[in-house]
Parts: sequence; structure tokens; C-alpha cells
Amino acid sequence: MTNTNEIGWKFDNSYESLPELFFSEIKPNPVESPNLIVLNESVAENLGLNVEALSGDSGVATFAGNVVPEGGSGIAQAYAGHQFGNFTMLGDGRALLVGEHITPTGDRFDIQLKGSGRTPYSRGGDGRATLGPMLREYIISEAMHGLGIPTTRSLAVVTTNEKVLRERLLPGAIMTRIASSHLRFGTFQFAAQWGDMEKLHTLADYAMKRHYPVLDAGDYLGFFRKVMERQAELIAKWQLVGFIHGVMNTDNMTIGGETIDYGPCAFMDEYDPATVFSSIDVQGRYSYENQPRIGGWNLARFAEALLPLFDEDQKRAVELAQEELYKFSDLYKGHWLAGMREKLGLFGEEAGDEALVQGLFDVMKESKADFTNTFRELTLGKLDLVERPAFGEWYSLWQERLGRQSESAASVRELMQKSNPAVIARNHRVEAALTAAVEHGNYGVVENLVRVLRDPYAYSDEQVDYCVAPGAGVSAGYRTYCGT
Ligand code: AMP
Ligand code: MG
Repeated sequence: MTNTNEIGWKFDNSYESLPELFFSEIKPNPVESPNLIVLNESVAENLGLNVEALSGDSGVATFAGNVVPEGGSGIAQAYAGHQFGNFTMLGDGRALLVGEHITPTGDRFDIQLKGSGRTPYSRGGDGRATLGPMLREYIISEAMHGLGIPTTRSLAVVTTNEKVLRERLLPGAIMTRIASSHLRFGTFQFAAQWGDMEKLHTLADYAMKRHYPVLDAGDYLGFFRKVMERQAELIAKWQLVGFIHGVMNTDNMTIGGETIDYGPCAFMDEYDPATVFSSIDVQGRYSYENQPRIGGWNLARFAEALLPLFDEDQKRAVELAQEELYKFSDLYKGHWLAGMREKLGLFGEEAGDEALVQGLFDVMKESKADFTNTFRELTLGKLDLVERPAFGEWYSLWQERLGRQSESAASVRELMQKSNPAVIARNHRVEAALTAAVEHGNYGVVENLVRVLRDPYAYSDEQVDYCVAPGAGVSAGYRTYCGT
């Protein structure tokens, strides 16, 4: 049997230094015969872990939640959150923190199992997860990483050889997720609601030290500002690639600014700002176009939790929070517009740039153009797009704008290529990969897809096949699900 030291775990579990209110110790919920389906070698290497040892018995036993390696943690975290606007107590209902691993370069990552069995926070849930959604999280988080968007990643997926009851019996699986932390807006909401001043202080000091060590101790407003800046940048990045998170509840928004919890998320094919994929989002609360506004709403809930830290005088604290919150939409807009300029190969800034961008989106919406392929074709200078009259008009304006800058066509092309992914995790490709894996035990389709998604700006021959959009309207009816 491989021993855990060979794997290279180096645990330092700082979260456990918080008051006990913030977590519960978990006994393993063993599964009988786990089988390693995915081992993400690139993540393992970044973590400084031995790939071969990880695929051995003790690695797999850890991924299955059968053992917590020596020096590990073995807890579930408590948190609360606004789910579709309603505040509620939550916590890790099906997750286990294996520990905080320190990489050879000194970075700290939570190693967390998802689907590892019931916890004190499971409420009515079974604590389990199924293979399709765990592979889906692996695929999409790798795609996000490839796109250069901050994200949690998947180190491994194991099947449990147990059936899990959803709409029918499905194969059980456990995913090992790595994150710079699992501190959420909802962790602070939990502290504000069920803790006391001292606990809220302790949590904020801890989070600041862990994520924003440049801040002065006690600069809670500065802390809020940092979190807000990260959110503005993150959501702008989502918008720039047509990514729809789908469940932007405050418990799914991290203090470290990583995309987390790939449940009902998906990338848009045809451009329509009202796009929603989540089966339960009937009001379109988390639609593509609403994401920035919801980001601001979530930050307001986060600020509310921090109010007692901003100032003793609560009236003053509210003023301070509002002054900060007002900045969010400009911050977001700044990142978004800068990103859009890059997507269109624009180097300087002109007053009319935003209108130019909007003009393109108007035409895309009207002609139901594919989001990713529109920018890809503009990058490649493939002019079949221009055949459409409305596009033609916009195209002339764009060409004039490009003509007013001094950068060469080659520089424009280079900027556009690194700003416009040729491939995204298209829904129909993701579904085909999951069907092959779950229905036929063929994991090669997932691996091929992930390989292509890891380098979305390559514009390689291998990618061409993955660039094909589904037929018109196919993706509009696509539905994704939470908590599966
Ligand atoms: P999510 O939609 O994945 O962000 O989950 C929302 C909440 O529901 C979290 O507290 C999860 O831990 C919990 N949860 C989701 N699925 C399950 C499950 N099968 N069993 C127990 N808790 C769950
Ligand atoms: Mg969640």
C-alpha cells in the first residue's frame, strides 16, 4: 500500500483555528469499492503531489472519503446564504475538507471532497453526488482555467460503485476540488447572523490574512473593496466569454474571487442576453444579462454582514458601505469595456467604443449569431459574416475605428486571438462527452474535450471540429440542474 507521505501532502489546517461554530468534524462515510476515473495530472503537479502515488490505494481512499490522510482536517464548513433572494442556513451538506495543502511554492489550497456523504448540514439531502455532474464540473472548471478565468479546479473524480437516487438511480461519484479557500459571502452572513462581534472579527481577520495579506490589520473597508474588485473582474470575464453561472447565490460567491460551484452553469451558443439554462431559474434572476447586477446585489448582502466592522456607529457604517457599493458598476464596466476592446483588437480608447461594442451585440442578437464564433470569425477575418446587411454596416464602423489606430494588422490579430477563445465547452459537446462516460463507460471523449478546452486560444486544427455550433435554436432549450 502507498503511504500518504509518498503522495506529498503537506497539510496546514488554518480554518480549524476559527471558533467551533464555523465547522463540524466529520467521520468518514466510506464507500465500498471506489474507482479512479479522473486524475488531473496538471493540478497534481501544481500542487507538488506525486501522480503515481495519488493513483495508488491511499490516494484513491482519500478521494473516496474512506480515510483522511495523516495531518488532514476532516471537517464540514458552516455557512449561510441568500438562495434566489431568500436567506437560509446552509453549510457543506455533501462536502468534506480533507485539509489545506501547502504547495512547494508556498501557496495554500483547500482540498475538498464533494459528494462524500452526509454531514450535520445535510438537511434532507443524501450527501452524495452523481457521476455526470461531477464530470461536468471537471470539464467546465478546466475550460474556465484554460480561458484564464479564476476558478476552483478538480483534482480527481472517483466512482463509488453505489447508486444514488435522483430522478432515477444513477452512478455515485465523488469529486476532489481544490480552491484557494471555500470562504464565501455566506460564511460572513453566517457569522453575522449566528455568531457575535468577536466571531465576526475573527473570521474577517482570518480571511484578510489568507486572501489579502497586503491590507493593514483592521482595514475592513479595504477588505470589502478588495473582494468587490475581484468580483467585478470575475463577472466581467464571465460576460466576455458568454459564461452563465446559473446559481449566483451568496453562498456560491467566494472571498478569493474564484468561480465556484459548477451546477447549472453553461456557455451561451446563440447570443441572447436573456439566456438562462438553469431548470429552476424560472424568473431569469441569474440570466446572462443580470449577472453584473446580481454581483452588485450579492456584494450589498456581503457588506451588510460586515457593517458592524465598518464603524461602531451603524448609520455611519451604512454610509461607508454605500460609498463603496456605488463604485461597483463602474468597476465592472471598466473591466468589461477593457476586455471588449481587446476582443475587437482596439488598443487605445475612444469615446465611441462602448457604442461600437453595443452595436455589435445588437446585430448579434437580431441575427441570433453564435457568441463565440462571431468573435472567432472576426479574429480570423472570415468575412462570410459580413454578408448580412446589418453586420456589414457595423463592420465598416469597426474597420474605420481600427484605421484610426497605428498598430499593425498583425498586432490587432494577435490581441484578438488571445482575447477570443476559439473553443468553449459547448453544451452539445459536454452532453455527448457525459453520455459516453456515464452510459457507455467511455471516458476518452471527456478527456479529448478537456484537452482541447485547456488551450482555447490556440486556433489549432485539432479545434476546428469543436468550434461547430449546434443547429439554430438547439441550445436555447438546453436545461441544466442544481445539486445533482
Ligand atoms: P449548491 O446548489 O451545490 O450550491 O448547494 C446548496 C446547498 O445544498 C449546500 O449547502 C449543499 O451542501 C447542499 N446540498 C446540495 N446537494 C446536496 C445533497 N445531495 N445532500 C446534502 N446536501 C446537499
Ligand atoms: Mg454551493
